[in-house]
Amino acid sequence: MNILVINCGSSSLKFQLIDSATEDVKASGLCERIGMDESCITYKPANGEKEKTVSPMPNHKEAIKLVIDALTNEKTGALKSLSEIDAVGHRLVHGGEKFNKSVIITDEVIKAVEECNDLAPLHNPANIIGINACRELMPNVPMVGVFDTAFHQTMPEKAYLYGTPYEYYEKYGVRKYGFHGSSHSFVSKRAAELAGKPYDACKTIVCHLGNGSSICAVENGKSVDTSMGLTPLEGLIMGTRSGDIDPGALEYIMKKEGISYADMMTILNKKSGFQGISGVSSDCRDVETAAKEGNKRAKAAMDVFFYRVAKTVGGYVAAMNGVDVICFTAGIGENDAHTREEVMKYFGYLGITIDLEKNKLRGEEVLISTPDSKVKVYVIPTNEELKIARETVALVK
Ligand code: ADP
Repeated sequence: MNILVINCGSSSLKFQLIDSATEDVKASGLCERIGMDESCITYKPANGEKEKTVSPMPNHKEAIKLVIDALTNEKTGALKSLSEIDAVGHRLVHGGEKFNKSVIITDEVIKAVEECNDLAPLHNPANIIGINACRELMPNVPMVGVFDTAFHQTMPEKAYLYGTPYEYYEKYGVRKYGFHGSSHSFVSKRAAELAGKPYDACKTIVCHLGNGSSICAVENGKSVDTSMGLTPLEGLIMGTRSGDIDPGALEYIMKKEGISYADMMTILNKKSGFQGISGVSSDCRDVETAAKEGNKRAKAAMDVFFYRVAKTVGGYVAAMNGVDVICFTAGIGENDAHTREEVMKYFGYLGITIDLEKNKLRGEEVLISTPDSKVKVYVIPTNEELKIARETVALVK
């Protein structure tokens, strides 16, 4: 089957066309600046060159039209006609407590996702716009929604409840939901396969470290805790997000700086983390380079990051009363040997030892722990699109 995977944001849209039989990517690309000047589409066929074209995209429907045009282009298209698309898999960000698995998209599903809009006001409406545009242009093609939050719906109450009045949970659904579910699920499953353990009898910790970062404890195939919360702001420090902070500090900063709550949230989401502490960049590579050159704030940013990752992993070892496998994934997790080495230094007490030569490899599946290490440590490249394609096939077949 040809599965078109769509990840739609407010002004951008990523796509991949995946052959479900071989799991090969037949084409991929990105629409940027939708609804703005100079919008452009980048298209890459499996064995061809990337091509970027400036093209007006006043809305998402036009963007999807251009995606279809590119996919069916006579010269470079991966398809002869639109009718060769068998199903579309949509990445959806927040399914609240309504969705604990992927679903076939219907009018009722869209309504239920809309009811979760308050929980992800930037993401869910954009996801729905993408779905509606696809449904208009491909009315007879089945569509599936795959939620970032669904995988974490197995978390026990003790992991997801906040220490706020219970009525806020009851009335407004205020609790930990977690994100990156497709990645945590994909990587933890692959980790069990690589470790030769049944997925339903394996304790795994997945460190998804990218621009946005979260860690997940997966016990016997189920998420039992994760570091992001009601929103993706909780947990680790990230490219520009603060991660955990004493809520009391917010009022203190707002008073001192004379800023509004909205401004404070912008600072916590866009001006904190690597960017905020280092003052250099939100990009881990730039911060590490500056740290090596002696920039103290850059070094502090990296140290805070390593320490928080290690503390969270340690917490999840306690949560599961043990761990069989630890995995690193996403931009930093897959590529940055230094981060993996520094984080793993905190785990001598668990009998974990890292093969520093193997740890130098990047962007590929590799066991980086030594044969005598008590816990297996892997680098496993994530593939959220493939996970979405697999879920889509499972539901439409
Ligand atoms: P997103 O959350 O946007 O999907 P990614 O998973 O692509 O993010 O990760 C982006 C992060 O990965 C950036 O901080 C970038 O610096 C980091 N990264 C990418 N390649 C490397 C590398 N070779 N070494 C260190 N960090 C890297």
